[in-house]
Amino acid sequence: MRIVVKVGTTTLAHTTGRLNIRRVEQLCKVLSDLKNAGHEIVLVSSGAIGMGVGKLGLRERPQDMPTKQAAAAVGQCELMYVYDKLFSEYHHTVAQILLTGSDVRDAQRQENFHNTLFRLLELGALPILNENDTVATEEIVIGDNDTLAAIIAVSVRADLLILLSDIDGLYTADPRTDKTARLIPTVSEITPELLALAGGSGSGLGTGGMATKLRAAQTVNASGIDMVIASGADPDILYRIAAGEPAGTRFTGRC
Ligand code: GLU
Repeated sequence: MRIVVKVGTTTLAHTTGRLNIRRVEQLCKVLSDLKNAGHEIVLVSSGAIGMGVGKLGLRERPQDMPTKQAAAAVGQCELMYVYDKLFSEYHHTVAQILLTGSDVRDAQRQENFHNTLFRLLELGALPILNENDTVATEEIVIGDNDTLAAIIAVSVRADLLILLSDIDGLYTADPRTDKTARLIPTVSEITPELLALAGGSGSGLGTGGMATKLRAAQTVNASGIDMVIASGADPDILYRIAAGEPAGTRFTGRC
């Protein structure tokens, strides 16, 4: 299977913005193992801004553009250093691709990164993508990595998109405030009622939320690709998802 995995900032970093070492080590180990088992993996990783915040010792995620871009420049470097180091331990080669909205909207530029991605997969490398936050100003922003991951999943004709998040799936209500909330295991149609269930961003460090995840599901499902939202707290869950076992919420593609 060709699997696109997206990890959010809250999965990779503590609330301080510093790396969650145990989590990231486990994530790289499981992804390496899935690659060894014959799956092709594309990783969409957030965390550049969050980790830059930690490394620069800022108190919170910056609101102004120059500080955000500066934090991303520092954090992206740290992220790739960590990925390179950990994946190398399992003899996997990582490649960094940073994109802006212009790259995914302009047909010519889209073809360029598309060709690079396919070549990297042919070469057995593990592409790691993020938005190019250091140059992405409002006009050319993709905005969030749930959207980027969906675009990439369609672009590489993935079999499956997995969004690892700080929430373990879609619930009937907000589980943080409503004790009666139940996990919805499978969604075969994204109805207006479901969209109404989705709120905004859940954390102080990331930018995505359930609404962007549902839109991502709509995008990939329209191309016949399944999507799973699951908790990133224990990356071992990826084994179960790859094996088609129930975990989190699965949005089924219909093509
Ligand atoms: N590109 C952002 C970062 O690396 C994260 C975007 C997102 O979490 O959706 O910090």
